[in-house]
Amino acid sequence: MNNILLVEDEPSLRMGLADGLRSEGFEVEERADGEAGLEAAQSGKFQAMVLDLMLPKLDGFEVLRRLRSDRCDLPVLILSARGEDSDRILGLEYGADDYVVKPAPLREIVLRLQAILRRSGNHAGVAGSLQFGAIEVDFAAYSLVRDGKRFGLNRLELELLRFFLDHSGEILSRETLLREVWGHRHPSGTRTVDTHVFRLRQKIETRPEAPRHLHTVRGMGYRFDR
Ligand code: CA
Repeated sequence: MNNILLVEDEPSLRMGLADGLRSEGFEVEERADGEAGLEAAQSGKFQAMVLDLMLPKLDGFEVLRRLRSDRCDLPVLILSARGEDSDRILGLEYGADDYVVKPAPLREIVLRLQAILRRSGNHAGVAGSLQFGAIEVDFAAYSLVRDGKRFGLNRLELELLRFFLDHSGEILSRETLLREVWGHRHPSGTRTVDTHVFRLRQKIETRPEAPRHLHTVRGMGYRFDR
């Protein structure tokens, strides 16, 4: 059974959501501040975390940042009262897997949780490495080696690269990437994709301005060639 960590300081909201998730078959543990949430998240006993942003002691961004800098890849669904794009993008940049604006229907939270669990489950066997061109990707270490240099990858860059590798030779639209890699059901904000592709190119391409692997297909999206 999936064990979910719920970090939310507003008691009625937390209890209501915890009950709702339990009724959907999840095991739920609750924490009411960022510090306790971070400690619980690092315990390794959860399959995913639902994380509020405005929290006492440590805010949600800081919890996420510390978690990822510890190389903890626990899937995180951000729950925020603030629907601003900057929050959403910052959350995703810090390595959140998805983002829900409060008050969200329980059904939406459940669907998004299931999606991030499925994606992380698909990737349960992240250990191992893979070679393409002159590049060696080490999935377990979140890094790759090119031209004798090692480059770190954040979670999204790794997921994006994995998706490109799984679909090499196909033209992938930005909307497809947002849906499949970011898990957005109603893809918008396609510049996020461009930003991540730009960064990925800096790491995988010897000459990012004339890419050998990760091509822009004008008016359509991207195509990855191994
Ligand atoms: Ca709060």
